[in-house]
Amino acid sequence: MNESLVQYRHFRHQLKYPTPVDNLDTGTECPACFQNPTKIISMDADFQLVRKFSSGKLSSEPKHLGKFFVCQADVDAHIAIYLTVPSQDKSCSEFQAGSALRSKIKNKKLDETAVFGSACRHSFPKLFFNLKHGERIGYSVFLVEKLLAETHNQQLHVFYDIACLLKSHLKKNKKYDILEKVNLVLPIFHCYGHKMNCQILYSPRRTSGVGLTDGECLERLWSYLGKFSNITKEMTPENRTDLLVDALIYYGHKIRNKLGYSLVLKYQKAQALKETSTKLFEESLQPFSAQCVTPSEVQKWSDDERLQTQTQIRKNQNENYTPEEAYAVNLRQYQHFQQSLLICNASTRYDIEKKCARIIKDLSRFERNTNCTRWDMESNRFQLAAELAKSKEILCSLSDLHQSVSERRFLLQLLKKYASKY
Ligand SMILES: [Zn+2]
Ligand SMILES: [Zn+2]
Repeated sequence: MNESLVQYRHFRHQLKYPTPVDNLDTGTECPACFQNPTKIISMDADFQLVRKFSSGKLSSEPKHLGKFFVCQADVDAHIAIYLTVPSQDKSCSEFQAGSALRSKIKNKKLDETAVFGSACRHSFPKLFFNLKHGERIGYSVFLVEKLLAETHNQQLHVFYDIACLLKSHLKKNKKYDILEKVNLVLPIFHCYGHKMNCQILYSPRRTSGVGLTDGECLERLWSYLGKFSNITKEMTPENRTDLLVDALIYYGHKIRNKLGYSLVLKYQKAQALKETSTKLFEESLQPFSAQCVTPSEVQKWSDDERLQTQTQIRKNQNENYTPEEAYAVNLRQYQHFQQSLLICNASTRYDIEKKCARIIKDLSRFERNTNCTRWDMESNRFQLAAELAKSKEILCSLSDLHQSVSERRFLLQLLKKYASKY
């Protein structure tokens, strides 16, 4: 009975989109993206769409093979051998975004933990696959590579809610071929959850070429697909894929039907906004006409702000201690802990001893590597390294202070612009 329904659904699809000849419409292509020189795509994972181990194993190929869902074996093979250079970038570590993994806790009962997908700027579904772990950064790299291959290496703007981490990961792993072709952007609402630096570098309103795209179209798609999560988690892999593809075809079909109407509306809205913004911009420049503040001057300020942010990030990354400086810092800390042990009470003794043991390990490693004995704290080499470490520490603190002040100013401006209106 179940199989008859599946066959019937597939038969209906074939009637609508007959595909005996190549290059015919399969209902999986966005007509508005056709031959656009630059493509704008959003990608994200949906952790509602899981599948239980107990729901069965793959016994045949999905009927919609090759539509929307890419070959899962390719994804698994990519992830199995994907090695990453760990990122030092802590810029967004306090947010949900992790350095290499954004781990939703792996549930041992789940075979597929999520669906990772992409859609174009018109919200038309594009490429999808299943996740077997948390949201590993390797999955997003795989999807970006796949999208580049699909679009024949066209220039891409990719919206991703951890665009900052993906970019720093690609730089660390020297994936310059991707960085050349892909411009990473944060979706507009997710953007406000990131640090000021990310908002300046990756906000869609500060990125040229993306227009008024908000990059949040996948949230709307996930909200629609979420309705199927209860039934798809109990299905075999092939039936689950077929049902999700049917749902995606239907979703795409609805978008196509209203595309003409929605594009006209969007065009009119963009034109009206352009006129209003130009007028407001000119009015706000009026009081400064005596100082010759021109629109190009304002553009230069914006470019400078971007440049300064990039320089700041680079500077922070370079301000790490050399091995000698780290050794001197450790040695001084060790001495400090030794003195604390003489006066501490029993409850704090254990903690201090643990810290001491960790420091001794680091000190011994350095001494082994450089073939030296413990430095005398009165020696010149210790004094010099400790002095250099101290000045780096001061610079770092000043830079942190500057960063916090700038960030506070930036957030207060946002508050003034948006929140205080309501
Ligand atoms: Zn499109
Ligand atoms: Zn960020």
